[in-house]
Amino acid sequence: MLRTLITGGAGFLGSHLCDRLLDDGHEVVCMDNFLTGSPDNISHLTGHPRFSFLEHDVTEYITIEGPLDYVLHFASPASPIDYLRLPIQTLKVGALGTHNALGLTKAKNACFLLASTSEVYGDPNTHPQKETYWGNVNPVGLRGVYDEAKRFAEAITMAYHRHHNVPTRIVRIFNTYGPRMRLNDGRALPAFMRQALSGEPITVHGTGKQTRSFTYVDDTIEGIVRLLYSNVTSPVNIGCCDEISILEFAKEIIALVNSTSAITHDPLPEDDPKSRRPDISLANRLLDWSPRVDREEGLRRTLVYVLEKIGQAP
Ligand code: NAD
Ligand code: UDP
Repeated sequence: MLRTLITGGAGFLGSHLCDRLLDDGHEVVCMDNFLTGSPDNISHLTGHPRFSFLEHDVTEYITIEGPLDYVLHFASPASPIDYLRLPIQTLKVGALGTHNALGLTKAKNACFLLASTSEVYGDPNTHPQKETYWGNVNPVGLRGVYDEAKRFAEAITMAYHRHHNVPTRIVRIFNTYGPRMRLNDGRALPAFMRQALSGEPITVHGTGKQTRSFTYVDDTIEGIVRLLYSNVTSPVNIGCCDEISILEFAKEIIALVNSTSAITHDPLPEDDPKSRRPDISLANRLLDWSPRVDREEGLRRTLVYVLEKIGQAP
């Protein structure tokens, strides 16, 4: 049986990965310190014979009894408001946490997968973004704590691969949404859905002309797992190519929930990327992966979760 450690396993993506790898027959060790995650995300796994949970801060030395086949490093604040309020923790988990997770992987002769991000491209000046693009990041800007931590994490992952022959994978995840997102995590989708449902104004930052490409969580998880089981060491983009402006996205959500909310415009946060869309030809070719759930369906499924969460389920 394969035995897998997932750091950040009580978070949005980490908890979906716990579910998926348990379904694939792994024994899963989930590690988290609940900095931005929640016990609710993994409560359904309590008592599962192949699941265990360890409360631990991965910026401290990691000890795991027994063998490991895979280490998936997902621990990190991920939403802009989280990493802006937790700048030092974000840098530490990307740097020290990644170093500890790699050291553990090496000691166990396991395979390592890093959750990297489209933010390594910063505010990109090529479009769409290919893995060969080196990015346009402001290291001393407010988002630099996240972007540079992830860039360091990619660099140390490649160093462990080249210098210690550790099998490694790097997934560059683009904006992902779906059930288990925190409703108050400040990201566009949960903010807009919550506001639309309560009739509050929808807070679009800036003109709303900035674009994103939103991927439903099941598709992202499938891409990550395909990469894990492959032998691809270079970074791979996982994301959806269906790009939309944030203003249009707000209008879609207003229409979806049949809301009377007006749209208001706040100032655009510093270094907010103007456009983002992955080139996924590598994932397509090497992993035979492409997203399957379109935005209409993904938003419908997410709305069911949000309604349950706020106690408005029919
Ligand atoms: P999340 O905040 O829901 O999950 C992160 C988890 O890591 C939380 O459970 C948190 O408590 C835990 N954590 C943070 N610091 C820790 C530490 N020092 N020790 C132990 N646990 C710690 O965020 P998410 O959206 O699930 O993101 C998970 C990973 O995927 C992150 O590494 C993020 O950078 C990456 N990612 C996510 C997206 C996305 O759209 N959700 C996009 C790109 C990259
Ligand atoms: N955004 C917005 N209103 C909100 C939250 C976010 O207009 O209440 C914008 C944000 O400035 C960005 C886009 O929506 O341009 C996506 O933001 P999110 O935080 O979801 O992810 P990002 O891609 O910036 O990490």
